Amino acid sequence: VLSLQSLTVGFPGTTVVHDLNLEVADGAFVSLLGPSGCGKSTVLRTIAGLMPALGGRIVLEGRDLTSLPPERRNIGIVFQNYALFPTMTAFENIAFALRVAKKPKAEIERRVQDVAAMAGIADQLDKKPASMSGGQQQRVAIARSLVTGSRVLLFDEPLSNLDAKVRASMRQEIKRLQKELGFTAIFVTHDQEDALTMSDVIVVLNQGRIEQIGDGRTLYRKPATSFICEFIGLSN
Ligand code: ATP
Ligand code: MG
Repeated sequence: VLSLQSLTVGFPGTTVVHDLNLEVADGAFVSLLGPSGCGKSTVLRTIAGLMPALGGRIVLEGRDLTSLPPERRNIGIVFQNYALFPTMTAFENIAFALRVAKKPKAEIERRVQDVAAMAGIADQLDKKPASMSGGQQQRVAIARSLVTGSRVLLFDEPLSNLDAKVRASMRQEIKRLQKELGFTAIFVTHDQEDALTMSDVIVVLNQGRIEQIGDGRTLYRKPATSFICEFIGLSN
């Protein structure tokens, strides 16, 4: 279980999201949904440890992560542009964190091969990102996050650069990988269809406030605010 307890995020002097409480079950798929500027990336980066929490706690499997550095959190992050190293092959990209951690060569080889096979890119490992498709690059990015043993993956709008058709197939792809590999996903999007089609739980954010937390069905049938009605695209 990943537990966000009164989590407050933002920048020195600026609170972006105040008092977020959320329990994410192991293997669950949670979306953070909201318009541009509402604070989705700030929440994600704080959970990953890329910026400090302004208040509250982040607890994973009973372990308080709030003041741990990113590499000790067991949480991976997949960015919008995948943030792969362009001069490295897929293998080197996936192996990077293990190299930094000075793991033995044989172990690195085995772990990269295992995770690449699971992600369906075992035959792509010699390629550099520029000669791979967007979907293949995304799988490399997911493999890179999982290879260190992360059980929680954070996705920051990984679909937003894709056209509608590719987007629909990438949704299924991410869901399939998530189910097969069993990781917990927190998925940031401003697209209600992404959230409705992929998530067990949706957290709707607006201007730094939590509008509603619930499954898609609940948001659809019992929207808590007029913002939810409009944003989910309803007229009731
Ligand atoms: P988008 O959908 O456009 O990616 P977002 O929901 O991810 O938006 P954030 O990037 O988390 O939004 O930004 C949340 C708020 O924080 C915005 O209002 C933004 O102006 C503000 N913000 C971003 N960076 C800083 C900063 N360095 N200092 C102060 N405020 C910032
Ligand atoms: Mg963002």
